[in-house]
This record gives sequence, structure tokens and C-alpha cells, in this order.
Amino acid sequence: MPKHFERNHMTKVASPEVSKGFTGGCRCGAVRYAFPQPLFMGLCYCRDCQHSTGTSHAPVIAVLSETLDFTGTVRWYDGQSACGNKVQRGFCVECGTPLIGRLEKNPGANAILAGTLDNPSLFQPAFAMWTASAPSWVTIDHNLPSFQEQPPETGAMYDSIRR
Ligand SMILES: [Zn+2]
Ligand SMILES: [Zn+2]
Repeated sequence: MPKHFERNHMTKVASPEVSKGFTGGCRCGAVRYAFPQPLFMGLCYCRDCQHSTGTSHAPVIAVLSETLDFTGTVRWYDGQSACGNKVQRGFCVECGTPLIGRLEKNPGANAILAGTLDNPSLFQPAFAMWTASAPSWVTIDHNLPSFQEQPPETGAMYDSIRR
């Protein structure tokens, strides 16, 4: 495990630079984040996202770690993604809001949950993935490209930023 891939908690002081395009945080305000732009935005219907959000899918915004300003403390839960990779899910220790996830093999990227944006309408999903595990009671938007499992594009993007 790379040494910068911390377990259990993450506390990082925000840089003083402003002009971050996307801002958000947890419900109680103890955790705040900002980043200039996403790598990609998509809907994930995998079982791990269902558990971590308590609903049918996660609205996922992939963000380059080095562009993410993150303040406050999250507790990490170590789990396993649908494709068998180790995944960590971070939630606010104060209010429990799930905010962030990351794959152990790709510490260069984080996944932010779009419901925690200050303006959730900034989220514009480009595709849906892991639709094979979507529950029967959810309607999938067939105007979006959808993938039964992991889209090859996201894997290639993660590979390109792996460090
Ligand atoms: Zn909180
Ligand atoms: Zn998922």
C-alpha cells in the first residue's frame, strides 16, 4: 500500500487559492471540499454504491486528488468494489454523510458524491454503469450511454493517472 494512501482518516488543510468551480460538504459542515473540474461524472448502480448511499445508485464525480481541497475529518470504511478492487468510502465522523470514495490502486483520483455539492445541479452524468445490479424499482435513463458493468473508458482514465 502506498504510504500516501492513509487508512482510517484523512485530514488535509485547504490551500488558500480560491476560484474553485465545484464546492460542497457534509450535512453538518464539518467537512468541506472544493475542486476546479471533474475528470468524469456518471451514475453507478453497483452494490457497493447502493450500500454506501442507502439508495439505488451513486452520482459519482471523479476528481484528480491533487486538485481536491479537502478540510475536516472523514472516517474511512474499507470495502470491495464490484470489480474486486479495494475501495475506501469516507463519511463525516460527526454527521455520517457519505462524501468520498477512492480505489486503493488509484490514489490519484477520488470519487465525490454529487448530492453533497453546494449546487447538486452542477452534476451532469455522462453515462450509467453497473446497471446489471440496479434494483427493479429504479428507472434507468436510457438517454445516457449505459454499461452493464465497468465502462472501459473509466478504467483507462484511472490507469492513466495511477501513481
Ligand atoms: Zn458532517
Ligand atoms: Zn459503484
